Formats: sequence, structure tokens, C-alpha cells
Amino acid sequence: MRDPRHDILFEPLQIGPVTAKNRFYQVPHCTGMGWRRPNALAAMRGIKAEGGWGVVNTEYCSVHPTSDNEAFPNAALWDDDDIRANALMVDAVHAHGALAGVELWLAGGMVTNLSTRLPQMGLRNRPQTDYGEVTQGQARKIDKTDIRDLRRWHRDAAVRAVEAGFDIVYVYATHGYLLSEFLDPDTNTRTDEYGGSLENRVRLIRELIEETHEAVAGRAAVATRFTVDLNEPESYDAFGLLADLPDLWDLTVGNYDIEMGHSRFVKEGALVSDVARAKEITTKPVVAVGRFTSPDTMAQVIRSGTQDMIGAARPSIADPFLPNKINEGRAEDIRECIGCNICYATDSLHVPIRCTQNPTMGEEWRLGWHPEHIPADPEPASVLVVGAGPSGLEAARVLGMRGHQVMLAEATRDLGGRVTREARLPGLSEWARVRDWRTGQIEKLDNVEVFRESRMEVADVLCLGVDHVLVATGARWTTDGIGRHSGTGFEDADCSGLLSAETVLNGDQTPNGHIVIYDDDHYYLGPVIALELVKRGNMVTLVTPQGRACAFGDFTQEQAQTIAALLKAGVVIRANQMIRTVKQGQATLTCVFSGQETQLACDAVLPLTRRVPVNDLYDALQCHPDIHRIQSVTRIGDAEAPSIIAAAVYSGHRAAMDVGKSIDLAARYGKREHPKLG
Ligand code: ADP
Ligand code: SF4
Repeated sequence: MRDPRHDILFEPLQIGPVTAKNRFYQVPHCTGMGWRRPNALAAMRGIKAEGGWGVVNTEYCSVHPTSDNEAFPNAALWDDDDIRANALMVDAVHAHGALAGVELWLAGGMVTNLSTRLPQMGLRNRPQTDYGEVTQGQARKIDKTDIRDLRRWHRDAAVRAVEAGFDIVYVYATHGYLLSEFLDPDTNTRTDEYGGSLENRVRLIRELIEETHEAVAGRAAVATRFTVDLNEPESYDAFGLLADLPDLWDLTVGNYDIEMGHSRFVKEGALVSDVARAKEITTKPVVAVGRFTSPDTMAQVIRSGTQDMIGAARPSIADPFLPNKINEGRAEDIRECIGCNICYATDSLHVPIRCTQNPTMGEEWRLGWHPEHIPADPEPASVLVVGAGPSGLEAARVLGMRGHQVMLAEATRDLGGRVTREARLPGLSEWARVRDWRTGQIEKLDNVEVFRESRMEVADVLCLGVDHVLVATGARWTTDGIGRHSGTGFEDADCSGLLSAETVLNGDQTPNGHIVIYDDDHYYLGPVIALELVKRGNMVTLVTPQGRACAFGDFTQEQAQTIAALLKAGVVIRANQMIRTVKQGQATLTCVFSGQETQLACDAVLPLTRRVPVNDLYDALQCHPDIHRIQSVTRIGDAEAPSIIAAAVYSGHRAAMDVGKSIDLAARYGKREHPKLG
């Protein structure tokens, strides 16, 4: 039963001519699917509606071929085919009583139209203004005729949006795209009625809101996505000029590192004060994100009147059923987002999004996975899962839900494997949610038994007489220096001068003095260990063969804040360097370009170059003469192939869904969205 304190989250809300059934609003967010994968998109968004979200939006939706962001997958409403493709999603969302929204998008100088090969239409003659993407080509400086064309394209797309059945149509005026260029006095150097005064700089946004109202003609609401920021007082003046024009405001702040903040740096509800000030200026409903996962916080935000709807991208990815769980009084079942931004990273890598907490995300159509409904296996079996890291925990949970008789054996006292060990390091406490949600779910399953402090050897496994064994024994960091940049590792190294990353992960004592981290991993762990060692009183140098530390963090939106945190903590970063030898208190660094060598005196070198699977048990089982007594023995997670936590969880989920089955991977993963042929 619902907690009465959360009733306010389930009050309907009028948005112009339409009504949202509750206050849960999935804001527009990228999916890595876009117009190329309409079926996958419809299935995924449909599940969010099924999970109770009152409004479900698209990602940024191009109105015309002059707004093209390939290879980033964006939605589109250029023509009739696009209407049909978008209608798939709209129908899936409507099937569960939710409203469907579309974020119409004018790109401006942020993109280079790599696919359509048309010149991008920006406000100035400048190279692409998204400096994270270095491609060639400058924008065409738009003139009055272009502005008329842009307005017409936007209006036509709004008409198509209504034909597709959308209930909310956006004017998208933030995130650096064309309309933000108009707002920004540095970018907008026009001297006509669209430049100069603030009234002039908001003119195009005003025109688009008015024209979108005309185009949808009362059949849909008009929303506007806009930036307000206490650090930019003028943003409130601009907002004030438009305050009551749209039917709904979707507000964000000027710093994307806050809006999309990684949990290492940004916590729940980070936008609330910026949004509250704007809410005082408008009579229209306001929605904003804040990686909200706590129902109490959500209810408090609505009750305090700072916003009318709870916006969510990541919490809706991690748990598409978050609203229903609150409605049913099952808050403890919410699969809380850990703020790792792997979802965002995979969109940036141009593939369908995935999620550390929710392995079904992105697999709703291809594999038919559902975050909540896991089919019972018609032939329940007995299954031993060895190792209770993220892969073993997820496997045990899913096997339990499928009705198998499950034993989960963990060598140590603690469950959680790597997430437990990593969560103790600076900034990573939310990693523990991966463990806690799964252990909480497993506790509810009578058919899953958990055995702590139970290191399994071959004889233990064989004498249990189970049908299937999943080996989830994880992986360990090596000190050999073999990794991405070297197939042979250190040319020469004193063992005494090498410090294993495992020592830090175990919370064990580390040497005093100067420690050099050799980071050929390029993600969060090197920087986080550096910060931990600084806390322990070490002087730390981080050596990386890449041009910048935390290279993968560029995808997860944590690189800039990571480097800033390292510099602030006094960590010295040596970029574009490999470590060749570690001898007698010296590391020999080699420039990756010139080969020039330098010596670095240090007390230890901690290599983060590769992990090797812990496979003693698996290997021993494979060659044991009695192995035929077990129907299948399968390695999963890091024991199969070390990777990110999201991959371990996915692996555990897949193994549990497939246990005892022979799967034709080509047939299964061959399910793709082929274009019409011929
Ligand atoms: P993954 O990321 O694939 O889940 P982890 O390294 O996080 O892997 O977890 C592996 C877990 O397996 C650890 O908690 C470790 O203690 C446990 N483990 C390793 N070997 C054994 C074993 N022989 N018996 C039981 N547990 C084991
Ligand atoms: Fe949250 Fe990480 Fe999942 Fe994204 S991938 S929704 S940040 S848990």
C-alpha cells in the first residue's frame, strides 16, 4: 500500500490541453537508438510507461536534415516515414496511459552534419562549437531567409509530431544548440531584431513557442527546455520574458557537469535552488531533473512548490518501474541509479544505452527482456553460483526469480565483490547500491541460499551434486605492466618496487612516500586510487600513455572534474608517457611520441594496466574426470572477461536467463532493424 506521504506524487497535473496522470516525468534523454532503431526505442519507452511514468519523452528530435548529429543517434521528424517510426513509440507509451512528448531540435553550430553533408546553420562563422567533438568545417552564418526557413521547418515538424500522436511538443532552447546561441550575447553578435537586447535575443524562442502553439492547435501541449542558473542572473531575466508562454517548463542549469553530474561529484537534487527561483516567476508547471531516487525527497520537492513534476532520465533508466513501486508502497524495491553515467557513455559511443543497475535496459526489443517480469523456467534445476560480486549476485537473483534452486557461495564474509571493495574509495559510495539492491531482492527469495565464508574448491562443487555451476570468481589486477599500450609489459621491474592495486582495494597498508600510478586503464580507478593515496599521506604521480587522464571519463562526463580534483589534491599528471622499467627506486618513463626517456624517483609503482580472471576453480573443474556429473559449468562476469561493472551485471543476467539452454548467438543477436531493402 502506498505511503500517504507520497500521495502528492500521484496527483494528476494539467499541462495546457493535456493531463499527466501523475508527477513522474521522463525528460528527453538520449538512447543510442534514435531514428535508426525505432522498434528498440518503442519497446524501451513503452516499458517506462508500463512502469508508471506519467510522461515519456523522445531524445532530441531533428526537425530537418540541416540538424544532423550522426554518428550520434538522434530522433527525427523529417518526413512521413519518420511519422510512422515515431508513432511506434507513441502507441507503446499511450498503451499504458502515459503522455508522449517530443523534443524538437534545431542544432545550430554544435554539429557538423556529417551524414547529410549540408552546411551546419549557426549564428557565426565558427568551427563546431561542441569542442568535445573535433571535426572539420565551419557553420554557415544564418541570415534572415535562413531564420524564416528554420521557423517553417520547426512548424512543419510540430505538425508531423501531432500526426504521430505526440501529446507534448518541445521548443528546445538550451544545451548549446541554436536557440542557446541566440540567447548568448557572446555568440549572438547580430545587429538586427534578433541580436543586441535581451528582448531581441529571446525573439526567436518566443516566435517558435507561439508558432508551435499554432501548429499543434490545441491537440498537444507546448513545452520549453531552458537554462536558468543562479550563477547567470540574466538567465532569469530571459526566462521572465517568456514566463507564461509555454504550457510547461523543463528547466536545467548552465553546467552540464552538474545536470548530468557523476555521483563522484554531484548528489541528488542538485538543481533545486536554481529551479526554485524560476518557479517564482511563472504560473506554468515546472519540471526539472536531479537524479531523484528517494520518494521522500521527491514528495518534499513537490510539496515545497519548487517544481511541479519530478524529472528523470537516469533514475528512469535504472528503474523503469520506479513510479509503480512507490505507488505500491515498495520503495525498498527501487533499483537506485548509482550515477556512473555508463548509460550516457554508450550513447556517446553510438550504441544503444545500457545501465549498470538495469541489465535489461536496451534489450527490451532485441532479447525481449523485461526489468520486472522474469519468466519462470519450465524445468527448474539446481544451480550453484560461485562468487557474490555483481555478476554472481545478479545471476543468483534472476535464477531465483526463474524458480531454480540456487546456492550462492562467497569466499569472504562480505557480499558484493569488487563493488564492495571499490565503494570504500573516495567518491564511490553509491557503487554499493549495486550490491544492496541485489542482496535485498535475494533475501525475499526462499529458493536462494547464501553461504558466506565459503571458498569453493573442486571437491566442494562436485559433492553438491548440482545440475549447473556458474563461476563468478572475478578478476585481479596484475603488476606485469601488460595492457592496452604494451603486449609485453615492463622490460625490467623489481618486485619490491611494485605495489598491487589489490592492496589498496583490500584496504591494506601501503608504502609511505612517493607512489607512481601507471594508469593504462583510463577510467575512474586510477584517479580514485590516487586520491585515496593522497588521503593516506602519499605524494602521488599519475602516469598515463593517453593525452589526458581518465580518457574514458570523457564519455561518462567525469573527466574534467576528475582532472580538476587530481590537480587540486596535488597529484602530478604525466601524460603521453609509458613506464618501461621499475628499478632501484626509479621508474623509467618513455614519451609515446618521441621515445625520449626520463627518470622518476619513487617509492613504489602501482600499475593499473590489466586484470586477469580468477579461474583456478573453473580450470580445475574443466579437467576433472567427474565433470560429466554437472550438466554445465559456465564462467560469467569478470571471470569470463574483465570489464566494467555494467558488463558483469549483464553477464550474470544473461547466464541466468540461458542456464541449461544451448543458444545460437548469431541467430539471437542477428535480430537487427534492417532498413527496407530494394
Ligand atoms: P564480478 O565483477 O565478475 O562479479 P568480483 O570480483 O566482483 O567479480 O567478485 C568475485 C567474487 O568471487 C569475490 O567476492 C570473491 O571473493 C569470490 N570468489 C572468488 N573465488 C571464489 C571461490 N573459489 N569460492 C567462492 N567465492 C569466490
Ligand atoms: Fe544510473 Fe549508471 Fe544506470 Fe546511468 S548507467 S542510469 S548513471 S546506474
